[in-house]
Amino acid sequence: MPDGSTPRPAPARTLRSAEDLVAAGLLAPERRAEIAAVAARYSVSVTPAVRALMDPADPADPIARQYLPDPAELATAPHETADPTADGPFTPVKGVVHRYPDRALLKPLLACPVYCRFCFRREAVGPEGGVLTEAELEAALAWFAATPAVREAILTGGDPLMLSPRRLSRIVAALSALPHIEIIRLHSRVPVADPERVAAPLLAALETEKALFLCVHANHAREFSPAARAALRRLAGAGAALLGQSVLLRGVNDSVEALEALFRAMLAARVKPYYLHQLDPAPGTARFAVPIAEGRALLRALRGRVSGLAWPTYVLDLPGGGGKAPLGPEFAVPEAGGWRVAAPLGGTIRHVAEPAGPAPASAS
Ligand code: SF4
Repeated sequence: MPDGSTPRPAPARTLRSAEDLVAAGLLAPERRAEIAAVAARYSVSVTPAVRALMDPADPADPIARQYLPDPAELATAPHETADPTADGPFTPVKGVVHRYPDRALLKPLLACPVYCRFCFRREAVGPEGGVLTEAELEAALAWFAATPAVREAILTGGDPLMLSPRRLSRIVAALSALPHIEIIRLHSRVPVADPERVAAPLLAALETEKALFLCVHANHAREFSPAARAALRRLAGAGAALLGQSVLLRGVNDSVEALEALFRAMLAARVKPYYLHQLDPAPGTARFAVPIAEGRALLRALRGRVSGLAWPTYVLDLPGGGGKAPLGPEFAVPEAGGWRVAAPLGGTIRHVAEPAGPAPASAS
C-alpha cells in the first residue's frame, strides 16, 4: 500500500475520462461504458498526485473511493437535491453567496483540481465552466465594496487556487483594499490534490496585510503526502493560517481509527481540524452517507483519544440555508442542582454542581 514514503513515478497528466482510467489501470476495460455514462453526467479528474496515493490492489481503497466514478451516482435518492446548501436563494449577484450577516462567499470559478464523487456542488462544478467574466467579477467585487457589514470574504468555488496567479492576485488585492474586510479565507483541495501548484507565483498572489486563512479539504490521512505537507508549509510560510475541513464518508473515514489518523495527520501538517461535515444530500451520493447517530458516536469515542486541537466541530449544513448546526455529541446535560457530565477519559458519569456565583447586577 502506498504510504507516501516510497517514491514512485507518477503519471504525467490528469485523468479525465473512463478511457483515461482504463489506460491507467484504475478501471477494468469491461466497465468502460458504464463509467463513461457517469463521466458524461458528472466531471472526472484524477491528478497525478492523487493517482500516486491510490492502491489499485485494494478494491476498498479510501483514496480511490473519493475520486473514481461509480454507476450508483446516476441514481438520485428521494431526499437528495441539486442545491443542498441552497446557494441559489442567497446569491445577490453572480458569484456571491451571502447567507450570514458578517461574511460572504465569492465563487470566481467552478473548476477544481479533482472532482469528488460526493461533492455538494456537483451539479455546478466542472472544468468547462463557471469562470466569472471580467464584468461579472467587477460586479461581485463591487458588491463586497458596497456591503460594509461583511467582514470576511470566503473564496470558494470550485477551487480558488485553480485561478491563474494574476487573477487571484487581483481578487486578493481588491478585497484587501476594502477597509471593512478583516479576513480573507480560501477553501481549497489544491494543497493535497495538486501540491506542486503551490509555487512562488501563487504564494505571491496571496500577499495581503489582512488575516488570511487557508482551509484545506482532506478526508483521509494518506492525503497528507510529503508533497502535500511541503505545500502546506509553503502556505504557512507565506502567512496563511491553516484550517482543515473534512466530510464524514462511508468507506473513507467512518471509523474512530481513520478519523484519529486523519486529524493527527492534519495537525502534523500544521492544519487545525475545523469542521467535520455531515454529508450534504447531493444527487447520487447516498453510498457515502453515514447516519448522524453514528457520526456522534464516532466523535464521542474520539474525544478521549486526541487532544482538543485535533477535535473538529461536527456540523450539518441545514438544507434550505439555515446555517451550519453543530451536531454534538454533548458531554453535559442539565440535572437537578447541576450537570450530568460524561468523562471523555473512561466514560464515567459525574454530577457537577452548578457554581452559585454572584447574583447578576440589577439594572437601575
Ligand atoms: S474540491 Fe470541493 S468543490 Fe471541488 S469537487 Fe471536491 S468537494 Fe466539490
